[in-house]
Amino acid sequence: MRSLRAVLFDLDDTLYPLAQFRRSGFRAVASHVDDAWGLAAAEALDVLEHASQATPGRELQALAAHGGRADDVVPDLLEAIRRHVPDLHLPELSRFVLRRMRTSWRIALVTNGQPAVQARKVRALGLEPMVDAVIYAAEHGSGLGKPEPAPFLAACRALAVPPTVAVFVGDDAVRDIDGAHAAGLRTIWLPAPSPATVTAPLFAGAIASSLADVPMLAARLDTPWRAHVA
Ligand SMILES: [Mg+2]
Repeated sequence: MRSLRAVLFDLDDTLYPLAQFRRSGFRAVASHVDDAWGLAAAEALDVLEHASQATPGRELQALAAHGGRADDVVPDLLEAIRRHVPDLHLPELSRFVLRRMRTSWRIALVTNGQPAVQARKVRALGLEPMVDAVIYAAEHGSGLGKPEPAPFLAACRALAVPPTVAVFVGDDAVRDIDGAHAAGLRTIWLPAPSPATVTAPLFAGAIASSLADVPMLAARLDTPWRAHVA
């Protein structure tokens, strides 16, 4: 039987690169405008990819302008991304770490974002059978998600462990690390290779340079508690 210890993972940019979802979403939008506007999907994809370098965050506006449409079509394009079944692949390292840790740790995912969208990512990555619980943070607390304590505590409840024996692993300094720390969990910060922000967490139990370091770091964070109760 697995011992009373738990590891909780963030999803986007922790277990897989969010850029995969962005690319998959671009393909969905390109196919949508091909059908809806008669603009060739390959041309639309070029516009989106060029805009993602030139004006990141305004790709859909760039596509609207290219198609001679006003910005009021953007919500429709965004909806095409949110509704599409994403084509994602779980990195081999993530698969290896989850399999290895599952032999002695209870495992949960705690993810922000629209639950229906996040659930499609979880399904596409094949993660459900690899973890014990999936917590959609927006379904807990006020609905704003991490860094509120409610989603972290919901994950601990789902795994039947107290927060003090749980370790949280995530890339976002504030939402993941400061949030988990405030909820009473221990933390491992795994900064994304090119983070959107450079805010360092106020508190991180450990900093990992790769997901490969997580099993060792989590075991190290777990040891003082075990020594204390032994
Ligand atoms: Mg993340």
